[in-house]
Amino acid sequence: MRRALITGITGQDGAYLSQLLINEGYEVFGVIRRSSHRGVEDHRLRWLGIANRVTLLDGDLSDLSSLVRIVKETQPNEIYNLAAQSFVASSWRQPVLTANVTAVGVTNLLEAMRAEKPDARFYQASSSEMFGLAQQPQQNESTPFYPRSPYGVAKLYGHWITVNYRESFGFHASSGILFNHESPLRGIEFVTRKVTDGAARIKLGIANELHLGNIDAKRDWGHACDYVRAMWLMLQQDKPDDYVIATGRTTSVREMCRIAFDYVGLDMSKHLVIDPAFYRPAEVEVLLGDPAKAMKRLGWKPEVGLEHMIEEMVDADLERIKAHKDRA
Ligand code: NDP
Ligand code: GDP
Repeated sequence: MRRALITGITGQDGAYLSQLLINEGYEVFGVIRRSSHRGVEDHRLRWLGIANRVTLLDGDLSDLSSLVRIVKETQPNEIYNLAAQSFVASSWRQPVLTANVTAVGVTNLLEAMRAEKPDARFYQASSSEMFGLAQQPQQNESTPFYPRSPYGVAKLYGHWITVNYRESFGFHASSGILFNHESPLRGIEFVTRKVTDGAARIKLGIANELHLGNIDAKRDWGHACDYVRAMWLMLQQDKPDDYVIATGRTTSVREMCRIAFDYVGLDMSKHLVIDPAFYRPAEVEVLLGDPAKAMKRLGWKPEVGLEHMIEEMVDADLERIKAHKDRA
């Protein structure tokens, strides 16, 4: 039985990747941060009905000794590094933590692998935020990077250290440069989920306004289920490499919001409030990826379109809020 180790297993991608790997017949191990809120951290795994099918081990990406112990104990064939301080807006409020976890944490995990399982295959969760102030209208693997946030800068370090360990030590280490991807399991602070949750609350009469920042920003949004499949495909290749994963379509926050409000039959203009509190010190105005290499080499393509995904997210939020109201 193949063994996979996932950092960030309690996050959106960790949950969907676990589901995929279980279906592929893997034994799945995950790193979990110790918390006084034991029992709620695995809510995404429970939502997918797989919490009892993964083994969780205490550790932290900033704690090298915990990672060495975990890699030694689990002896994984594949390591997926999904853990990060992953929210761009928070990265200005906690830039040092973001660097320690999202940047140097990658080296910690690579060092643990170097010490205990150098023949494992390694996946690094890189980000389109590395393109930031985009130097080309459509970004691919050779587009120059220009990060615009402490998060983007930290991810750039993680990307290059992955490339460096591949070139220095011959590691099977790949970096997936993933554009934004969403799902009903997306963190509530990210704009898609904030919008679908907000539209659902207004529809159910428990809120009346939705406060957003820069609604002219544009993103290339895909579905997390499609994107975790790309991660797995990268590690099934004979040779490690870097791949852009995107849909090739960009949409404004305003238009994404309109899709959600239209779906529940509400007029967005009656509820949307532009709130400068959500503006960022430096903005990534537009991202648009070119996934041609992944399509050709990995045989990957996105299956779920934006409209369908937003509707799925709104439905899930309506259900969650109703269930919560019934319990209260
Ligand atoms: P989430 O924010 O949903 O999950 C982040 C995960 O990292 C959580 O499991 C979190 O644990 C864990 N984590 C945070 N800090 C530490 C730490 N110090 N030690 C161990 N674990 C830690 O992110 P996503 O699932 O959306 O994204 C997965 C990865 O992909 C991230 O690295 C993200 O930056 C990157 N990425 C995501 C994109 C997207 O659009 N979703 C786009 C491009 C890249 P806890 O539950 O305890 O908080
Ligand atoms: P990001 O691309 O990783 O930063 O993902 P987000 O979902 O957090 O943000 C996507 C875009 O939406 C960014 O350009 C934000 O500035 C913009 N945006 C506008 N209003 C909001 C808001 O209220 N919350 C968030 N998270 N983003 C917002």
